[in-house]
Amino acid sequence: SIAHHTNAEPLNTITPAKVEWQMDDTGNMVPVSGEFGDVYFSHADGLAETRHVFLAHNQLPDRLAGLVPQQCFTIAELGFGTGLNLLATWQLWRQLRDTYPQLADARLHFITTEKFPIPLADLTHILALWGQRAPELVALIEPLLAAYPPLIAGCHRLDFSYDNLTVDIWLGDAAQSLSKLAIERSQQSAPQPHIDAWFLDGFAPSCNSTLWADSIFAQMQRLSRPHTTAATYSCAGIVKRGLKEHGFAIKKVKGFGRKREMLTAIMTDTDHIDVTSDNKSCDNESHDAEQITTDSTFNHTAIIGAGVSGLLTAWSLANRGIAVTLLDKTAPLAGASGNPRALLAPKMTPIHHVDEHLHTIGYLYSSRLYRDLNQKATQLNTAPVLEPTGALDLLVKANIGTEQIADYPDEMATTLPHEQAQNISGIKEQDLSENLYLPQSGLVNPQALKTIILTHPLIRFQQLEVSEINETEQQVCIEGSDQNQETVSILADHVVICAAFESHQLDERIFDCRKIRGQLSWFRPSLEQLINLPKIPLKYSGYCAPFNAQAGDDNLNTVTAGKPYLLLGASFIRNDIGTDIRDEEHQINRDKLVAAIPEMASIVPADTSLWQGRAGIRTQTPDYHPIVGQLTNSQRIWTMSAMGAKGYALAPICAEALAGMMLGSFAPLSNAMLARLSPNRTRLQTPLT
Ligand code: SAM
Repeated sequence: SIAHHTNAEPLNTITPAKVEWQMDDTGNMVPVSGEFGDVYFSHADGLAETRHVFLAHNQLPDRLAGLVPQQCFTIAELGFGTGLNLLATWQLWRQLRDTYPQLADARLHFITTEKFPIPLADLTHILALWGQRAPELVALIEPLLAAYPPLIAGCHRLDFSYDNLTVDIWLGDAAQSLSKLAIERSQQSAPQPHIDAWFLDGFAPSCNSTLWADSIFAQMQRLSRPHTTAATYSCAGIVKRGLKEHGFAIKKVKGFGRKREMLTAIMTDTDHIDVTSDNKSCDNESHDAEQITTDSTFNHTAIIGAGVSGLLTAWSLANRGIAVTLLDKTAPLAGASGNPRALLAPKMTPIHHVDEHLHTIGYLYSSRLYRDLNQKATQLNTAPVLEPTGALDLLVKANIGTEQIADYPDEMATTLPHEQAQNISGIKEQDLSENLYLPQSGLVNPQALKTIILTHPLIRFQQLEVSEINETEQQVCIEGSDQNQETVSILADHVVICAAFESHQLDERIFDCRKIRGQLSWFRPSLEQLINLPKIPLKYSGYCAPFNAQAGDDNLNTVTAGKPYLLLGASFIRNDIGTDIRDEEHQINRDKLVAAIPEMASIVPADTSLWQGRAGIRTQTPDYHPIVGQLTNSQRIWTMSAMGAKGYALAPICAEALAGMMLGSFAPLSNAMLARLSPNRTRLQTPLT
């Protein structure tokens, strides 16, 4: 990582595993943890042991085969290690989905924890060996490695939506990570998430007792419900006691291979668990009164507002099998999120905050999602969603100082020698040393994102100016007028209001946010200008980004496909909801660029009369956090709004959190973060002055 390391290791800095290699009885080399001196998996046959201990003894083949449409089965693992358990589970899930057609709409959520993650290079090596020994894993290893997160504390959500599989890797101490999983609901009516099966795969208690501590068993009890199961290869006294004291009935069974025994457990304690409000439950005869819960009333959601929040909410819900009607009074992306391009770049924070820093969590998730969607774009023959340009941040050096972010992995943020920074950025005359380079940043193409989202078979767009939302016990009725001024009513099971600053007009319970006008400018440089302009996006008090207009951009009617442009952002005018294009704001955008990079004064034309622009209204709360969740005293009305100018970084992760809250699965955000986003948080109880 960059710059100087301090001696005192900041809290929440991840220590990567030190992988060592030992020869096993059969002459194979196996990875061993340098910290704990124990093996990651059985010397004999790790994959067969995983299948025996964790899959068979949590009855996964039967339980997964018995899922009903829209049901989500959640596994939690202690110790992600090499990912072998995940791969074995994923492979079983694929096999079952190939066999049982009803699993087409069921989901698997695999939550795993890891304090000492294996660096990608070591993991690649370890999994390549598995690929040789177990060809059935090969097709899964590549996407897992491609999605493997940078080693930064906090929750990293990986989506394998083509397999209805979500993987959350919580990097950090397991007991702490588990304590962050939210099961609290804003309303009794909302379903409550729980873990269905536990994989207890810490190193042997004699090598590392932290994964067998009381704090772990207490979390297991909190997150389980009657009939949740657990399995472990260990029969140590500390494990048996811990499970028994926290509500599990335990049973010793035959261990794998030469091992005499192992443990299975089932949660029997019902006292502390509220199961009254989950939607429907029925017994599945294939195993011990396993509870199957599914919400039969959750088939159709209406979303009001087709900006980035509405589009991403639609995407998250549709990927969970929910039909979505996306409504907007004009068209998708007609508001603040419809700019020609949006810069996706991290907003750096000192690393000890990072696991609770919404922008970082959101940025990492968004860049993974957009890169995945690029593959879809190729299939659909449309423009890429994210152009991976990299970016140079000229602000961090001046503001928080690059030392503060020295512990970030280089792949997220690094400093470059002056000359290299010059070559990459095309800036010639100023000192660029110690400035921050963001290799994975890029430019989002909103139109391309919209095109892909609207091709989802479960998402339908309808033009409607909504005037009223009425909620009954059974449904929500949305009324409004269509493009022909005809009155239209739409019935839905739930509604999500994603209407930015107009959300408050649709439902007064949503905070009346600050409104900030922002104008973006762009112009077509001459060839001579072009060679002297920045070559990649730059961040300063504003930002600039060169881009080539793509075919889909034409519907903005202001850029010509195939031509190069320079984009400059953005003005920031409070309490102004005009969307006219103003020359003085073109000047503001130019001034910001010239102040940060004085050599641009002679290159970027001072006459802005031929410039084009777009103005939108951003919505912001007093604490700068978006609003995500269910409205007070409502069963069926939710909101996701107030993304400020950060919609492309925040909306994807917030949409995943919202879908989790709506459907009763775990969010990729902590308890504390969900409280910070709640529409009912105290900071939103007093009107803005
Ligand atoms: N399930 C893994 C697999 O499929 O490869 C093997 C897990 S290995 C036996 C145990 C893992 O627990 C190690 O990767 C270790 O770094 C991790 N670990 C140890 N202490 C931890 C803690 N306090 N919190 C989270 N993970 C921890």
